[in-house]
Amino acid sequence: MFILGIECTAHTFGIGIVSDTGKVLANIIDSYTSPEAGMIPHKVAEHHRLVAEEVLQKAFQQAQQNVHAKHFSWDDISFVAYSAGPGLDPSLLAGYEKAKEWSKKYQKKLIGVNHPAAHLSIGKIIHKLKDPCYLYVSGVNTQVIVQANGKYHVLGETLDNGLGNMLDKFGRLLGLGFPAGPKIEELAKKGKYVELPYAVKGMDVSFSGILTKVEQLFKQKKASAEDLCFSLQETCFAMMTEVTERAMAHAEKKELLLVGGVGANQRFCTMLDIMCKERGAKFFKVPLELVRDNGAMIAWEGFLRKDTSGDIEINPHWRINEV
Ligand code: AMP
Ligand code: MG
Repeated sequence: MFILGIECTAHTFGIGIVSDTGKVLANIIDSYTSPEAGMIPHKVAEHHRLVAEEVLQKAFQQAQQNVHAKHFSWDDISFVAYSAGPGLDPSLLAGYEKAKEWSKKYQKKLIGVNHPAAHLSIGKIIHKLKDPCYLYVSGVNTQVIVQANGKYHVLGETLDNGLGNMLDKFGRLLGLGFPAGPKIEELAKKGKYVELPYAVKGMDVSFSGILTKVEQLFKQKKASAEDLCFSLQETCFAMMTEVTERAMAHAEKKELLLVGGVGANQRFCTMLDIMCKERGAKFFKVPLELVRDNGAMIAWEGFLRKDTSGDIEINPHWRINEV
């Protein structure tokens, strides 16, 4: 059985095809980028509508190569899964409309899935994990999550910005373009530490005060871009490592799975890996092509939810603990 998944919550339109054993046959993404202005919601939606058919055809071609078949088409697909939320309304709607159009035309059942849950599920199947603590750090999301009795529980989270968005906001001030995370990582390699506020409250974190501080220091020319990037990373990643360790101790977890785009950061991974080793736990991260927003993870989550979900339209504010 093959499942087609459509990702469409934010800047990325993606289509993935997975098997019922979690094998990824295709995973094509096309992301909206704008160096100047970040994400303009209606332009993102326009982008998604424009690239949808092309991304679909590329996904079929890739699947065809991977199964060594002469043909791979809608006939081979059993279900159409789509990201129902959370996300930007116009992007979600663009993806949902495509999903609905294709499901009607090719008579496939629609399965609406929760985007954060998909990030966690793909990591869990790729590494064959039993019961990990999840650290989900993307543009919008910054959450420490565990599972109990089939339900997700958010043990800690950001009280304001997601870490990725905060990095992007600072990057905009530095003129780094969007997304800024990878460029901040590069600049940080040449920086040294300047003191910044450290904001951990129990298992929650807050980034707004830190952002204000680095913005001030930069505008007042009191620290270089390199030093601020380094210090921003060290401070925020240390905060995340601290709350994650607290959550793992509290919930008695021996595996940590890092998901979300900020997980591409090497320094962040190193800090989490050291923390895990020190407490006899194992650290896992998801390969780059599956860690960023993509359709394959939506397809796999769709497979897991095929009997319990359906056409649920969109839900822009759908929290993972409501899944
Ligand atoms: P996502 O929302 O999961 O697609 O993740 C996107 C976010 O990850 C953006 O805010 C990026 O700036 C951030 N990001 C991507 N690569 C890196 C990196 N190497 N270091 C830090 N943040 C990153
Ligand atoms: Mg995401």
